[in-house]
Amino acid sequence: MTRRGMMLADKVREAINSPFNVFRKEIYASASIGISLYPQDGRSAGELIKAADIAMYSAKNKGKNAYQFFMPEMNRAVKEKLNNEESLRLAIEKGELEFYYQPKISMADDEVIKAEALIRWHKDNNEWVMPGDFIAIAEESGLIIPISFHVFELACEFIRRLENKYHKSIHISFNLSGRQFRQHDLAQRFLELAAKYGVKPEQIEFEITESVIMEDPDLAKVICQKMKSLGFKLSLDDFGTGYSSLSYIWEYPINSIKIDPSFIVNVETDTTNQAIIHAVLLIAKSKQLEVICEGVETQVQLDFLKSIGVEHIQGYYFSKPLNEQDFIRYLDKGAPKNSG
Ligand code: C2E
Ligand code: MG
Ligand code: MG
Repeated sequence: MTRRGMMLADKVREAINSPFNVFRKEIYASASIGISLYPQDGRSAGELIKAADIAMYSAKNKGKNAYQFFMPEMNRAVKEKLNNEESLRLAIEKGELEFYYQPKISMADDEVIKAEALIRWHKDNNEWVMPGDFIAIAEESGLIIPISFHVFELACEFIRRLENKYHKSIHISFNLSGRQFRQHDLAQRFLELAAKYGVKPEQIEFEITESVIMEDPDLAKVICQKMKSLGFKLSLDDFGTGYSSLSYIWEYPINSIKIDPSFIVNVETDTTNQAIIHAVLLIAKSKQLEVICEGVETQVQLDFLKSIGVEHIQGYYFSKPLNEQDFIRYLDKGAPKNSG
């Protein structure tokens, strides 16, 4: 039976893989196939389709254009995923999601120019979950939308408290994921939430990665332009890790570029990375864009970056992301003076 299933799947794949013509253009398609067997995987049509669907997602994860037979352990993985989704859903109600703030420092005067808000999930069992371990679940389930509005509102309330304390305007950046870009009223909702706390859009910067733009470049352009027209700022995050197309700088209304930590690790000796940072600095200058180097951890890295004219730094050298209380303490103390 399994052998017959494999042969059939191969036949279907081959048939779909052969190119076909649309308006004289050769088009290629691929298929991910999930296979379930009667009676072990299900006794009704509904059960069998459900099992085949689960197997199909596993085939997709294997790199597409593959087939996969249903296996009982896949059910366990789906159940675990649903459990995670459910506890993430409850996390909003239970107030378990919060932002940590990482300062960005100006080299000209050692001042905190702004901070990046980085999400953390503090579970009631006192376990801390980092974004890398739940943002993907939040995206897949669509929960990223209510989560991001929820934490954004908390951040705006925090900005209000900071401004009341320091009597100056506070600038914070927020990360956006691809799923959020498909939310049609995204910019408008952020604007309304910020206004509720008297926070102006120019105090808010959204960090987007090249891969988010690449998911749908035309839609991304419309959303970026809408954000700009409302007064928000935009930053290109993790620059250099994706397509590294400098055309984004011309085509999208970007205000700043964040050079990825992978270029910083051995920057003092790696001449290729030095050349790349130099080039980005030059282009950014001609477009009056800000350049931030992130992931700066050591004095040697800092000294080198300063020597080539990098003006803004973010990284453990100055501070790890801090909770609200510690961020206030950091602002009270002032950033440590950097030598060199
Ligand atoms: P990112 O936006 O590139 O954020 C920088 C990450 O590098 C953060 O990790 C930060 O804690 C870490 N980092 C900063 N300085 C240093 C350093 O000197 N050395 C090292 N080793 N690491 C440093 P984190 O907080 O775990 O966030 C990881 C990613 O998760 C972020 O990358 C961002 O893409 C995503 N993320 C975080 N918060 C949010 C959010 O609210 N919404 C969305 N959609 N994504 C978020
Ligand atoms: Mg970021
Ligand atoms: Mg980054």
